[in-house]
Amino acid sequence: MAASDRSDPVLGSLDGIVSDLEGFYKDIHAHPELSMQEERTSAKAAERLEAAGFEVTRGVGKTGVVGLLQNGEGPTVMLRADMDALPVKEDTGLPYASEATATDREGNEVPVMHACGHDMHTACLAGVAALLARATDAWSGTLMAVFQPAEETAEGAQAMIDDGLFDRFPKPEVVLGQHVMPPPAGTISYRAGTTQAASDSLQIRMFGRGAHGSMPESSIDPVIMAAATVMRLQTIVSREIRATEAAVVTVGVLQAGTKENVIPDEAIIKMNVRTFDEEVRKKVLGAIERIVNAEADASDAPRRPEITPIDRYPLTVNDPDATGRVAEAFSSYFGHDRVEGLSAPVSASEDFGSFGTEWHTPSVFWYIGGTDPVAYDRAKQAGRVSQDIPTNHSPNFAPVIHPTLETGVGAMVVAARAWLSS
Ligand SMILES: [Zn+2]
Ligand SMILES: [Zn+2]
Repeated sequence: MAASDRSDPVLGSLDGIVSDLEGFYKDIHAHPELSMQEERTSAKAAERLEAAGFEVTRGVGKTGVVGLLQNGEGPTVMLRADMDALPVKEDTGLPYASEATATDREGNEVPVMHACGHDMHTACLAGVAALLARATDAWSGTLMAVFQPAEETAEGAQAMIDDGLFDRFPKPEVVLGQHVMPPPAGTISYRAGTTQAASDSLQIRMFGRGAHGSMPESSIDPVIMAAATVMRLQTIVSREIRATEAAVVTVGVLQAGTKENVIPDEAIIKMNVRTFDEEVRKKVLGAIERIVNAEADASDAPRRPEITPIDRYPLTVNDPDATGRVAEAFSSYFGHDRVEGLSAPVSASEDFGSFGTEWHTPSVFWYIGGTDPVAYDRAKQAGRVSQDIPTNHSPNFAPVIHPTLETGVGAMVVAARAWLSS
């Protein structure tokens, strides 16, 4: 950490709360909860805010929590952490690894793991709230701590907005958030402008006519229809998108049939699209619809395919001025060697952007590293970062607690104080 740490009026007290925060982090890591089921996590977050003196509102968008700390004149700054975990079976071997299971919406018993680091975001925001509440002489304004449910299903931000977030709480001058990622722990990266992709997930149901496998002339084979569709969908990016633009089209599910000699009567495709520009997004979605319908026509399908959205994440766009302010604050506190400006957006997606976009207020979202720097360096030397370093959503993904926790708390305090400093 920077030498200035102990003299900082807010972060000078960080050492004193780190072991408590570590305990909180391990506790939520070991007790992960699926999207929209974050009852225990949100209760713990709310208790911590209350203990720090925040005025707390629970149940905003089902399990969301909003804490307000008014501290004199000045801007309102919203800090957001997401709380949900994923249906993944943890394989980290950590002493505090999750063994939890839960019932998903389809009624299936599934393993649950904090495979995206939202437990780290939650612990960091709890720490930020505690530190700023102790050091009210060092800042003025209103701090708004938001613990959001269901980021992984693209529902949580919208659920809080639909539950009156904008009417029930003061409009912030800036909305700030962060995400732990695979780079080395202790580092921070950011990008002005578009910083994460838009994501659209679709289900496509294609209809044929079932028949005996020995009599294809009686069928309209949805397996061929779907197979041809999958291949043709891969020409969207290669043949319809300009070389300087980017998009990802992934078919993750292709399902049809039950038995080798039965031609089924329908096929299911589930796919995901990532784009970095609204025009490109519209173009890709339009091309998908065109190709799916045309392939159904080519097979003489008895019904038009059904295209149903599964979920949608907006583009995450960082306000350039606000990002500049945050970046300057990061560099002066952490030093230039720990802070990196990214030349390109990351292909992951987030619903964080909805808060700023829909509230018409600037927002900034940055990334903190979570991998043991020694392991990361070794993988980098061997040219094996993508093979050897677990990514978010992997059963092996778990940030090293130190200095990830200190960096996440520090980054949020520093960014918030770029507005709240008296
Ligand atoms: Zn995730
Ligand atoms: Zn995440």
